[in-house]
Formats: sequence, C-alpha cells, structure tokens
Amino acid sequence: MANRMSVPQYLTEAQKKELADIANRIVAQGKGILAADESTGSIAKRLASINVENTEENRRMYRQCLFTAGDANQLSQNLGGVILFHETMYQKADDGRTFVQVLKDAGIIVGIKVDKGVVPLAGTEGETTTQGLDGLAERCAQYKKDGADFAKWRCVLQIGPRTPSALSIMENCNVLARYASICQQNGLVPIVEPEVLPDGDHDLERAQYITEQVLAAQYKALADHHVFLEGTLLKPNMVTAGQQCPKKYSAQEIGRATVTALNRTVPAAVPGVVFLSGGQSEEEATVNLNAINTYQGKKPWKLTFSFGRALQASVLKTWAGKKENYKQAQEELVKRAKANGLACQGQYQGGEAGANAAESLYVEKHAY
Ligand code: 13P
Repeated sequence: MANRMSVPQYLTEAQKKELADIANRIVAQGKGILAADESTGSIAKRLASINVENTEENRRMYRQCLFTAGDANQLSQNLGGVILFHETMYQKADDGRTFVQVLKDAGIIVGIKVDKGVVPLAGTEGETTTQGLDGLAERCAQYKKDGADFAKWRCVLQIGPRTPSALSIMENCNVLARYASICQQNGLVPIVEPEVLPDGDHDLERAQYITEQVLAAQYKALADHHVFLEGTLLKPNMVTAGQQCPKKYSAQEIGRATVTALNRTVPAAVPGVVFLSGGQSEEEATVNLNAINTYQGKKPWKLTFSFGRALQASVLKTWAGKKENYKQAQEELVKRAKANGLACQGQYQGGEAGANAAESLYVEKHAY
C-alpha cells in the first residue's frame, strides 16, 4: 500500500451526498427559486420605484411580506429555495422568528448571496469581474451554521462587437469556479451564475453563440477546480436577443436557442438550471420558461427559475409600502410562483396576469 499514489480527497462521500440532496430538493418537481438577495443599493432602486424610503425597517417589512405569503407551506409548493442578502439573513419577522426560521418552517431552503459585487477589469471595454473571495471560506462556514444550505455568486458578461473578451471569460469563469469549490468545502451548494447581459442590439444567434462560449469555458473551469457538479446549480440567462434588437423572436425560438446552447455545454451531471429573469416582464419570463420546457429535445436537467424581478414586480407595486396591502401583495407572489411552477413543467397556459405582469423590468447594465 505504501507505494500506491494517494488520490487527493476533494469531498467525502457524505459531503457529496449532502450537496447533491440539497441541490435536488431545491429543484424538485414544480419548484424554483425566489431571488430576494438584492444588495442594499439594488433594493434602493426597487423601493424608489414605489416611493418607499430605503431604511432597514422598510427592507424588513418588504422581505417579511414576501416570506410570509400564502397559507402554511403554500409557497414551498413552488419555491424550493429563497436567496437572501446578508442583512436579511439576520432580520426577524414580527413574531420574533428569524427570516431563516420562517423559511425553514415553511419548508423552503435558505440561500445566501456571497459575492461582493462587480468591479472593473482594467484595460477592457467596460467589462467587469466579481469580487468577494477574501475570507469567503469563513463566511460560508458561518452562513452554514446560521442555516444557509446554498449560495449565489453573480458574474456578468456583456455582448458587444468585441466583447466578451477572452480575458473577461477566463477571469469570470475562474472566479466562479473558485467560489464554487469554497462553497462545497463548507457544505453550501453553489449557484454558478455567469450572466450574459441582454444589453445590446445583437440577434438571437449571437446571444446563443456567446452563451455557448461562456458556458463551455465555465464547465472547463469547474472541472479544473474539481467541483462536484451533482452538488451545483447553474443560473444562466435565457438565450434572448438583445433588448435593442429590432427583430422580435417567438418564445419557441427562445426555447430552442436556450436548450440548444445548454445541450452543447452543460454536463448532464448538473441537476438543475435555474434561469434568471434578466429584465423580462413577469409574463414574458414565465412564457419563455414554459417554451424552454416544452421544446422537444434532450433535457437531462431540471429547467426552472431563480427569478428576482420577474417574481417581485407585481408584489412591490401592490404592496407600495403599506401594511394594509400586505395580503393582496402576497397573493401576487403566490400567483407568480404558481405560474412559474407550472412553466418549469411545461404546463403554463398563460393568463396569470398580475398587477405588473406585462411591464418590462429591463435595467441597463443591471447590477444586483
Ligand atoms: P433577475 O431575475 O431580476 O434578473 O435577478 C435574478 C438574480 O438573482 C440575479 O443575480
């Protein structure tokens, strides 16, 4: 035995099993994720849109409205997980329970945004990388102790005549892989989010090509970092034409482009793909998710949602900062969660219009 080369141990079988179980529970049949992890700066913009001041108490009231929606366990029928921002993780509901406990009591898995936002990549045409690796292992260990079971880290790539650059693809895919490895060491399922932004006038074909280039690089980087794919989730953009593209594409065309890009790049070992909504209207995001699931082709992963704006726009508008609107606002969340729960099974028939269902939620160079 002494001469046998020892194989480096990345994760124990027990660690692997725990991670795979968490990932599979988040994307169980009919379920997706509510991304409620807007940083203090991002939620400021959302609250400003309804003339509500960005105070800690207003943020708490708003998040409480989301997390206590519906009858007992109703939300968990369509939400496997909710992603929180650091502050929210340690806030409490009116009844004294932490939001973490509120979600756990409702049968929902708690996730935490662990990146620290985008910073410029010098010498590029406005491209960025995402920071937050320093002390990440310690933060992950603490979040796990405090009740989180998965994490999110968002990287951003832009489509332009000469972007994304090779540097930006390499840097962003590598930092995501390094983050994923650290998460797994600490019992958190990493959501790997290399978002190709919808900004620009590029067509569907170019969006698909760039998404394929980025995802191929992403899975090479994850392999290089020995990341256990069964214990990860991918959070990509749907493949859509640029917001300023004059040509409009059908949901079926978007479904085909998206599934084709994934088939070419994402290993079947990945349990779930949880799309971001990326500035689509609530209804558009749901209809496109449905088209992705009804597309006839190989689909070895769950194809579901991890929407921020497309689950919250109607809730925000209906709540408008007033406690008396809570119930009605919460019904909007239940409605959208249900609609997306159907769409991720290819069973959405349309027509779940909410208070803000049709409004475009596009924000130029969206930060989170
Ligand atoms: P949108 O669904 O609003 O694009 O955001 C989801 C998200 O979590 C981005 O990181």
